[in-house]
Amino acid sequence: MMLSCPICKKDEKVLLYDVSMRLYRCSHCDHTFTVVDTSYADKKIYSDAYFDSSHENWFKFPNFPLFDRIHKFILKSLKNNDFKLLDIGCGRGDLLNYLHQKEPKWDLYGIDTSTQKSDNFKFIQADFAQSSFNQKFDVVTSIMCIEHIQDINLFVDKIIGITKPEGLIIITTINAGGLMYGLARALHKIGISQAFQRLYSEHHVQHFTNKSLKALLENHGLCILSQKNPNYRLASVDYPKTYPLISGCYKIATAITFGLSTLLNNGVSQEVMCKRV
Ligand SMILES: [Zn+2]
Repeated sequence: MMLSCPICKKDEKVLLYDVSMRLYRCSHCDHTFTVVDTSYADKKIYSDAYFDSSHENWFKFPNFPLFDRIHKFILKSLKNNDFKLLDIGCGRGDLLNYLHQKEPKWDLYGIDTSTQKSDNFKFIQADFAQSSFNQKFDVVTSIMCIEHIQDINLFVDKIIGITKPEGLIIITTINAGGLMYGLARALHKIGISQAFQRLYSEHHVQHFTNKSLKALLENHGLCILSQKNPNYRLASVDYPKTYPLISGCYKIATAITFGLSTLLNNGVSQEVMCKRV
C-alpha cells in the first residue's frame, strides 16, 4: 500500500514504523501518523472513562501555566478588548473558564462533541470539522486536539476559514521529537512497550515534531510567531494502572525526564502561536 504523508504529500518517503500500532513515518518531514480504518465517532473511544479514569489527572490538574501564557499573548497582541475567541475541542472548558475569570468581558465560545454547560462561555455541541459558522473569530485556540484529527489539512483550512485576517491562532499538541517520546521509543525497541503504547495510543493519530507542525502551518500560509516545547504539569500525567512498584518507577522516570527536557527546551508538548496574514 502506498501512503502519502499528510504534510509534505510525498509517498516515497513514508515507511511502516510499527505494525501493531499501524504507525507510519515520513522520513522527509519527520511526521508519524496512524492509519485508521473506521471513524473514531463509531468506535466511541471518547467515553466517560476517557475523562474519568484513563485521563483522570489530565482533567483534574488543568494546565494553568499554559492558560496564563495564552492570556498574556492575547493581551500583548490584540489592542482592543472587543473580540471573539473560539476554543476548538474545549472539553470541559478549562481554558475558557480560566479566561473568563481573568477577563469577564471577553466573548468566549467553545465547540466540542461532548455535552457541556457553562455560564462563562457560549457552548456549541458539534464536530468542528463538520460545522459551518456564520461568524469569524479574532482568536482561535486548539489545545491538545490536532493530534486526534485524521484530516489535518481540512482541520487547518477550517480554522483559517473562521479566523479574521490578522487574527491569532494558538495550537498546542504533543512533541514527538521530545525527550519523553525518544525514551519511550528506545524502551519499546528493547521490549518495554507500555510508555510507547500509551503515547501512541489510538486516541492520537498525528505525532508532530517541531519540523512537521511548522511545515503544516506554513504550508497553509500561517505566520508562526513562536514555537516552544514546554512540559505540562507533572501532576497532570496519567500512568498505566499497574503494580505500585512499577507505577513508582514510571513516576520517577517521568519526573527525571520532565526535569531534563525542561532544561533542554525539549518538553513533551508543542505550543505554537500564529497569525493569519
Ligand atoms: Zn512528510
